[in-house]
Amino acid sequence: MPATVLIVEDEPAILELVAVNLEHAGYETLRAKTAEDASRLLSDILPDVVLLDWMLPGQSGVALARRLRGDARTRELPIIFLTARADEPDKIAGLEAGADDYITKPFSTKELVARIRAVLRRRKPQHGDAPVEIAGLRLDPVAHRVTGNGAALSFGPTEFRLLHYLMTHPNRVYSRTQLLDEVWGDHVFIEERTVDVHIRRLRQALAPSGHDSLIETVRGSGYSMRQ
Ligand code: CA
Repeated sequence: MPATVLIVEDEPAILELVAVNLEHAGYETLRAKTAEDASRLLSDILPDVVLLDWMLPGQSGVALARRLRGDARTRELPIIFLTARADEPDKIAGLEAGADDYITKPFSTKELVARIRAVLRRRKPQHGDAPVEIAGLRLDPVAHRVTGNGAALSFGPTEFRLLHYLMTHPNRVYSRTQLLDEVWGDHVFIEERTVDVHIRRLRQALAPSGHDSLIETVRGSGYSMRQ
């Protein structure tokens, strides 16, 4: 699943340039020209990363970052600040407001893509390229291939994403709502029951190698992958 990047930038030329380059690099983009536009978008859609301009008309980027960090739904959202300011005190203020990284204008799009990849690798390993392996179950995100004790297993696209997410976050319990947010990317339009359907399909797909037992149902809470 391509990661979605929300770009908050008031200068149309920069907004367009960044969006086009990120799309070219395989990301989906959402665009906002003000912090207020970004807030409206974020009430419907949770992106995987926010690129946030420091200087915005109306509410500043820093104020928006603080607000996102203060809301349970957006607390974990990775934020990279875009700014023309290179001063040390500003960098510190940005990081204190909850930014994951900081990139100073002018920047090369190559550098920007590299920073986004690094933040995603750190914060959202399900978007990474690295193969993951648990107890003989191996998932290779680049080849889109899963093997159980060396034998190929086949999955639908949603089950593949769900498995990738659970394998990169083992031993934690996720509620249906959290899984919808993280795997489907937007919890607004899908019923929670959908998660149960896909978990059932995922277990069926894992059954040939016996790895279905790795997925635990936690009564009243959700699902977990045991490592
Ligand atoms: Ca600006």
